[in-house]
Amino acid sequence: MTVKAYEGPSTVNGDNIMLGIGCEVKGSRNTKTGPMVQVGTMLRDVHPVEAVNNGADEAICGGCPLRPTIHAEMKAEGTEVSEFPCYVKKYYKVAQWKALKAASVDYDNALDVLAGRSVRFGEYGNLSSVPREVSEPLLKVTKNHTLYEHDWRNPENQWLALYAMASVHSIEEREEAHSMGWRTFRTGNSLESGEVFCPNYTHKIQCIDCNLCSGNSCGAKDIVNPPHK
Ligand code: SF4
Repeated sequence: MTVKAYEGPSTVNGDNIMLGIGCEVKGSRNTKTGPMVQVGTMLRDVHPVEAVNNGADEAICGGCPLRPTIHAEMKAEGTEVSEFPCYVKKYYKVAQWKALKAASVDYDNALDVLAGRSVRFGEYGNLSSVPREVSEPLLKVTKNHTLYEHDWRNPENQWLALYAMASVHSIEEREEAHSMGWRTFRTGNSLESGEVFCPNYTHKIQCIDCNLCSGNSCGAKDIVNPPHK
């Protein structure tokens, strides 16, 4: 079942986007997250594969350096960037995109579906591409959640530090995000002071039982995860 929580302009560039909740009866089969409810954003009018290839994914992913078009440019320029681009398999998103396009917005149902549940926000796209008045009530009704913010430098997104990890790709970016009040999730192969490896990497603990990636509301150390393909 797919519940549409939002359809309207992206906060990034005004293109039409959708916020969808994938609520399989037994939760997600993602082996890393465990059976969490998954919440993600998609373009309304552009096929998910086309959006990645032509750069229209900016509306939901902003300037994230893991967007394949940006990642390829940065690698070509020799700019420091994560080893691999975004790992989300867009062709798996096509059925979800079609279902979401066909659905009507039912925000009350979205709140009901998320209430008291463990939720993975940002399963695809940046939650900050959706207006705060839509996303914050959804965050607040959950039992717990995970969330990563790629556009953490944006002044409009500072409220999300309470709920989200700043997604960073270097030690310098981590220091910058820290100075702005964010906890961080960094891709890397070694630890700096104040960081721990993701417990899924070290002990196969699933996100549903860990929940360390929930921003300042958690108060734990920063997280490091080795890059993956
Ligand atoms: S630190 Fe915990 S919540 Fe974050 S990715 Fe790893 S297992 Fe999931």
